[in-house]
Amino acid sequence: MRTLIHGGTIVADGRSRSGDVLIAGETIAAVGKAVAVPAAVDRVMDATGCVVFPGGIDPHVHLGLETPQGTCGDDFASGSAAALAGGTTTLIDFVTPRRGASLLDALAARKDAARKSLCDYGLHMSVTAWSDRVLPELEACCRHEGIGSVKAYLAYKETIGLEDREFLTLLDAARALKFLTLVHAEAGDMVAYLQKQLLAAGKTAAAFHPLSRPPEVEGDAVARALLMARLAGVPLYVVHVSTRQGLDAVAAARQAGQAAIAETCPQYLVLDESLYAAGGDAGAAAVMSPPLRSGEHREALWQALASGLAQTVASDHCPFDLEDKRRHAGDDFTRIANGIGGIEYRLGLLYTFGVRTGRITLERFVDLVATRPAKLFGLYPRKGAIRAGSDADLVVWDPGRKWTVRAAGQWQRCDHTPYEGLELQGAPRFVLSRGAAVFAAGRLDAAAGRGRYLDRSPLRGNDGRCG
Ligand SMILES: [Zn+2]
Repeated sequence: MRTLIHGGTIVADGRSRSGDVLIAGETIAAVGKAVAVPAAVDRVMDATGCVVFPGGIDPHVHLGLETPQGTCGDDFASGSAAALAGGTTTLIDFVTPRRGASLLDALAARKDAARKSLCDYGLHMSVTAWSDRVLPELEACCRHEGIGSVKAYLAYKETIGLEDREFLTLLDAARALKFLTLVHAEAGDMVAYLQKQLLAAGKTAAAFHPLSRPPEVEGDAVARALLMARLAGVPLYVVHVSTRQGLDAVAAARQAGQAAIAETCPQYLVLDESLYAAGGDAGAAAVMSPPLRSGEHREALWQALASGLAQTVASDHCPFDLEDKRRHAGDDFTRIANGIGGIEYRLGLLYTFGVRTGRITLERFVDLVATRPAKLFGLYPRKGAIRAGSDADLVVWDPGRKWTVRAAGQWQRCDHTPYEGLELQGAPRFVLSRGAAVFAAGRLDAAAGRGRYLDRSPLRGNDGRCG
């Protein structure tokens, strides 16, 4: 099967050019002007007036996640369907072993759950406690199981969070095993203290959630996590940075020559803390950690995307139905199901509010949503690039297409969305995953289970980690 994507503007690897993309089977065969005569291929896809870029890579999603507050709405089938419909062709989810449980057993269970994915996927390991068995298991994960990145939480100390000494031990392991460390940087002890104070004072409603996680608590944790990474001599990837303080800490580390990477999410760029004040369903629905912030932080995040200080935009997709959001919305904000859905809207939101407003260039957009995550997580140039030999994961993006976000019509499985009613411009005309046209004209054509697990281990020759 030879497919020609014809007549678009190709945006990849930091530049734009007009040209065609020739696909043979699952991979890109040639890129450029007149790479094939349309009559000589099996299928021509018209990209006139469109931008052609590498399929989005969402490096931070939670599918089929079980929490004490309920199971998040999407499993790997529905979540990956939503990803494809929004222009994301690769996702990376997490393995979160219970404390004391085997990392390898937990990984096997997640690989099993992920098998029904419609798109290609990887998994980050998480370390939720340190013990003597963790290091040999981590080594086995990195040598034999395709793991190239490991996450630690500095919040949630009562369940999955690490103490500083454990985090430092993990950073030592990162140096030895060459995985990239991800950190959820909120100072857990301070959050727990503030939660207790607020609840004791009768401040139990959803509106008090952000007061338990003030910007300084993120800033402190980012700075300390980066200091520990500096002591250990390893790079650090900070997930969902939401504040100016967090960005300042990353900037300081970068200026000192450290490899510090900041991820942010569309919710912190587009929404703000006024949703909590609105109360009711809107307030409970907006409970996520870190919480939404004020305009000052939003502006700092946009500037960080433009300057390159923040390097990736991930969704942190984790939707819950309103029932799970409402259950404790009045009596205990710490027990409100935590998270929102966004895997489907990541590209549309960033394009509308970033590219169309002139805050970021189209080339930067592509880097943020596809190329940089590919490079950081051991997928480049198999993914995140448009060149001969790369997987034919491509988005043909119609920059003129206007649409309105409606929970009623969304692919992700959730009965609401905090983006309800937002008018966006820009949407996929076609999405290709390994050469297959999986999304076209608003229709999905992809079978559950067609996605493949991606080996991302740097110990097995996956390169491009620091590009
Ligand atoms: Zn997350």
